[in-house]
This record gives sequence, C-alpha cells and structure tokens, in this order.
Amino acid sequence: MDLSSLNVTIIGGGIGGLACALALGQHGADVTVLEQAEEITEVGAGLQISPNGLRVIDALGLRDALAAQSVRGQAVSLRNGETGAEVARLDLTRLGENQSYLFVHRADLIDLLSKTARARGIGIRLLQKATGVHPGDRPRIDMANGDHRDADVVIGADGLHSVVRPHVTRTKAPFFTGQVAWRAIVPNTTGHPPHARVHMGPGRHMVTYPLRDGASLNVVAVEERRDWTAEGWSQTDDPNTLRAAFAGFDAEVHQILSQAKAPGVWGLFRHPVADRWFAPGVALLGDAAHPTLPFLAQGANMALEDAWVLADSLAHAVTVDAALEAYQIRRKGRVRRVINAASRNARNYHLSPGPVRFAAHTALGLLSTYAPGRMLGRFDWLYRYDVTRERRG
Ligand SMILES: Cc1cc2nc3c(=O)[nH]c(=O)nc-3n(C[C@H](O)[C@H](O)[C@H](O)COP(=O)(O)OP(=O)(O)OC[C@H]3O[C@@H](n4cnc5c(N)ncnc54)[C@H](O)[C@@H]3O)c2cc1C
Repeated sequence: MDLSSLNVTIIGGGIGGLACALALGQHGADVTVLEQAEEITEVGAGLQISPNGLRVIDALGLRDALAAQSVRGQAVSLRNGETGAEVARLDLTRLGENQSYLFVHRADLIDLLSKTARARGIGIRLLQKATGVHPGDRPRIDMANGDHRDADVVIGADGLHSVVRPHVTRTKAPFFTGQVAWRAIVPNTTGHPPHARVHMGPGRHMVTYPLRDGASLNVVAVEERRDWTAEGWSQTDDPNTLRAAFAGFDAEVHQILSQAKAPGVWGLFRHPVADRWFAPGVALLGDAAHPTLPFLAQGANMALEDAWVLADSLAHAVTVDAALEAYQIRRKGRVRRVINAASRNARNYHLSPGPVRFAAHTALGLLSTYAPGRMLGRFDWLYRYDVTRERRG
C-alpha cells in the first residue's frame, strides 16, 4: 500500500506509540499522535533495551543518539541476595559489537522519540484524552472533551489501561499475581558496575543497574504478598517498608536501599494477551495488546518490535485490514513466548534455600563458568531476533 495517502492517528505517546509514528513516517504516512498528558514526560525509571529492541531504534536512525545517553550493559549477574555471591552471569560482551544491551533512562528515550517525531513533521497533540473508538472503514475516536476525530487507521498504543482494547477484543479481568514491586532511582554509592544485578532470595528479588553516566542506580524490587496494591504508579511507599522486606539481604543491598526516598509501589497483575489485536481500521500495540510482567525486561522492547512490524505490514499489504491481520499473525506467537518466559523468571528468582534451589543455582553456575557462550545462547531466540529483517508471511 502506498502510505503517502494514508492518514493514521495513534492514541498514546508512549514508547510504542512514538516508535510506530516514526516508523510510519518513514513510509510517508500522515501521522498524528494523541497523548492525554500535558507533556510527554516520564517518571524517573530505567529500562533495559536489549539488542532486539535496539534494532528498531537503529532502523529509526536513533541508535547512536540513544547509546550516547545510556550505559552499555556488560553482564546480567544473578546473585544470592543473602550472601551477595554471584550464582551465574550472562556475559553480554559476547553479544558482539553491533548487539549492544543498553540501560536507558525512560525519560531520555521518550524525549528522543518525541523530539525526533516533531522534527520529522509528526503532529503530537497533548492533552488529548481518547475515551473510545468505533472501528470501521473510517474509524472514529471519541474524545474526553466531547469531540470526535476520524482517520484511515487508528492505533491504540494507550498502555495497560487501554480504552481502545475493549472496542477491539473481548477483555478478561486481570488477576493479581501475588507480587508487589517497588521502583526507585538512587545515587550509585556502591560503585555498581555496568551490570544488571538480580539479587535473589526466598519470595523476593531486586534488580539494580546504573543509568546515564553511572551516577545513579535504577532499582526494581519485588516481593510476594497475599494482599495487593492497586495497579499503577500513583502510590508511593514508606522506604522503611521496602528496607524491611529486604532486611535479610547482604550489605550492598542495604546500602542501596538506605538511599531510597519515596519509592513507587504497585501490585503486579497478569493480563491475558488480547485474543484479537485488530478490528476494522483499528489495531492495538504494546501494553494495550499484551502487558507483560517486568521479569524479562521486555515490555518496551516488545512495543518497539510491534511498532516496526505494524508499519511494515501496512506498507506491504494491499488493504488496511489485510495489513492488520498480518501484523497480528507476525507478532502474537513471539509476544506470547516472551510473556511466558517472563512469568517463569519470577518463580526461578524466588526459590527458597533447599535442594531445588541448590540444584538450580549449581546448574546455572556451572553453565556460566564452563560454557558462557551456551549460557547466553539460551537467549538467542530473544536477543538475536531482528524484526527489521523479518520475512513477511
Ligand atoms: C518496573 C518496570 C520495569 C520495566 N522495565 C522494563 C525494561 O527494563 N525493559 C522493557 O523493555 N520494558 C520494561 N518495562 C515495561 C515497559 O515500561 C512497558 O511495557 C512499555 O512502556 C509499554 O509501552 P507502551 O507504549 O505500550 O505503553 P506506555 O508506555 O504505557 O504508553 C502509553 C501512553 O498512552 C497514553 N494514554 C493512555 N491512555 C490514553 C488515552 N485514553 N488517551 C490518550 N493517551 C493515553 C499514556 O499517557 C502514555 O503516554 C518495565 C515496566 C515496569 C512497570
């Protein structure tokens, strides 16, 4: 399809929506992004952008600009949270020169995507909250201010609490996973190396990695709980609650958590992957279609991959609806695999001392010491995947 006569409206100016706007812009489409917020900013938090997501950033022409503001990760280090000893390591330097794994500040990525979009003539309209869509030949968007907008294609990139999703597919209620997560950025006072450290303990784990020039550390801490917090980032917690949850961990973890001021806290819910990702003229993308638990650091990477494939499908199909169907076919299997792998990680990180943990940690330790290439090779399906060169079905 010649996209130069196609008018696309994207609901949501997050990572997925902005990346899709840029990808469609490269095909000549006329794109508008509607964002509910007053400005496109991000709460302070880190993201791991793995080589599969970075290939999309590269294809959008932004790789060097992002790398310049990021820390290049050299390893993922799995550690015994109680003793601080390394259990196993994923040596990211073995990925090769063109396969960087970056630790990125979300605000920097959003800023880069939105500034580039504006510079390339993409309209970003702020304070534009959508309330629903009507799929059809010329899909229509209902706006919170009572206005209506139409377009040739509408893309719902409006995140976890998507207003587009219920108009595209049957929605099922999310369920609480029995885990809460805290998120904070603290000064790097421990000389933390350019590694993602996963501090593992019974029923809990904490991930730390440096951001920007290495002066700060991103912290995500997860604890299993019966009671639950509302989903979302609106709540901050007493840092002493977070410290108490990790009281049994080693001195490094204590020092890191002693710097936490007002961590965000939220309940982790599992949302089923949407059955259908498209309706006539309307598609879902990123968290709107398939929110994932953060245990494989792939939510934003999947949104980037989706963004590329959706634009590519539109550019290479004969009709809009054939393109949207092709997009779903190309994405669903891979996203499901990623989400299942992320869910398994939670269990593996939270093992209690005993024979199961001993066997699991010993096997991982042996593999990482004696066959580091094979250890990393277990993730080839994820990190070496190049969605920008994918064969179209
Ligand atoms: C603790 C934590 C750590 C994470 N770490 C990683 C990681 O290391 N690597 C990784 O790849 N992923 C990570 N993720 C996941 C990642 O943040 C998300 O999967 C990703 O941001 C999804 O992008 P998105 O564009 O689909 O949605 P979002 O980023 O949520 O963007 C949605 C946008 O839509 C806007 N919007 C919402 N509703 C409306 C409306 N009605 N009208 C108009 N605009 C609207 C919102 O304001 C927002 O700007 C992490 C997530 C969490 C919670």
